[in-house]
Amino acid sequence: MSLENEKRELLNWIEDNRSRFIGMSDQIWENPEILWEEFFASGLQADFLEKDGFTVTRDVAGMNTAFIAEWGEGKPIIGLIGEYDALPGLSQKKQSSKEAVKEGGHGHGCGHNMLGTASVGAAVAVKKWLQDSGASGRVRYYGCPAEEGGGGKVFMARDGLFDDLDCALTYHPASTNITSKGSTVAIVSSHFRFKGVAAHAGGTPHLGRSALDAVELMNVAANYLREHVLDGTRIQYIITDGGQAANIVPETAAVEYILRADKTDYLKDVAERLRNIAKGAALMTDTKFEEEVQIAYSGKMANHTLGELLFENMEFIGAIEFTEDEIAYAQEINDSFPGENKDYIQAAIDYYKPSAELKEMVLAHKDKPLIGVNFPAIDEGMTLKGATDVGDLSLVTPTGEVYTACFPTGAPGHSWANVATGGMSIGHKGMMHAAKAMALTALDLYSDPKYIQAVRADFDKSMNGKKYECPIPDDQQPPRLEPKS
Ligand SMILES: [Zn+2]
Repeated sequence: MSLENEKRELLNWIEDNRSRFIGMSDQIWENPEILWEEFFASGLQADFLEKDGFTVTRDVAGMNTAFIAEWGEGKPIIGLIGEYDALPGLSQKKQSSKEAVKEGGHGHGCGHNMLGTASVGAAVAVKKWLQDSGASGRVRYYGCPAEEGGGGKVFMARDGLFDDLDCALTYHPASTNITSKGSTVAIVSSHFRFKGVAAHAGGTPHLGRSALDAVELMNVAANYLREHVLDGTRIQYIITDGGQAANIVPETAAVEYILRADKTDYLKDVAERLRNIAKGAALMTDTKFEEEVQIAYSGKMANHTLGELLFENMEFIGAIEFTEDEIAYAQEINDSFPGENKDYIQAAIDYYKPSAELKEMVLAHKDKPLIGVNFPAIDEGMTLKGATDVGDLSLVTPTGEVYTACFPTGAPGHSWANVATGGMSIGHKGMMHAAKAMALTALDLYSDPKYIQAVRADFDKSMNGKKYECPIPDDQQPPRLEPKS
């Protein structure tokens, strides 16, 4: 059978199994768990894959909500990457107006219920094909916790869990079907805790050494630093401990910094300069300090070859067809935000500055609240400002990322609107599209070694001889929570 026919057959199989994947996504949507608490979601997926014949290793890289599931033998080894954490405060019903299921509850405002499930769906589809075709190769699903501010993949990368992959495929829900050739910023967030000597502020201030003085001097210097960093570098802070009372010289004070930069190496330089500022502030005030890195993500490096393959496979599948009801539902959501459909499209054009041809393609959809057609990558050469722990994965192994239409065009990121569509048919359709695109791309990669060779050549060129260095300290451990009974 030709590969094209095998692809068609696999698409039919994925469609036949649609309800299993939608069931999983909906269960995770209905039980939203935030970072490090994803016991239900990781357990559900690990059990599902184990039942399907995968060898499952739970509790990896020190994280009890992380797992790896593998099927097959030999090479190549292709990773399918999943996430499943929700966001706090975004509880939302499956309806087109804002209303919480549970006031103050969690919700899947980034659509990770679909993200993880699409990758599980692709993994079992690929396994089915490997089994039927007898082709050599392994498929490996990674259940990655805490993408939202914890960085599960960074700990996995540090432990070498991605090292033997030939490449990885991942997905993120979005408002369009599109692949990526761009980068993302690198980020590091650290707490600086100063310790001085407490004293009566009125009676014996000469005996005191103010930790708050150190924090303030650090912040002054950091504000001067802003002038002398590359454009696109962001320096943000909040004071998390400013002392207890104004009549006591503060013994302790603390400040949390977030730094972002377009390039991972450059961020390391800025972080070192900020550390020197903290040292200077401690010296000036006769205090001591400790730095605790909270999170650190490397910038994402897109693999162009994988981006193109994912796009070709989306085209092979065709566009997502949305019904009149789904379009009306999405329009009601768009109408609840300022601006009109055409404004959202225009904002994207202004931001990405696409080629004339692509611009025309995008403008053809300017009146639509949902866009089901497939677009080639629009972000080549750009560094997008949102950070993700996919960055660390992408510096260890070539990584392809696909986005699919699961949200209305006007839905802001991390909003109730994304929760509202991620648990119903609009999100289901986008998720299935992604599962299919990743599965078909994997088929190409297993079927002809020329693809893996091209993907690796692309990766080597971008790495330019550099090796991945994990941005978190060697001794830093992820938090381990216990499941709530
Ligand atoms: Zn996300």
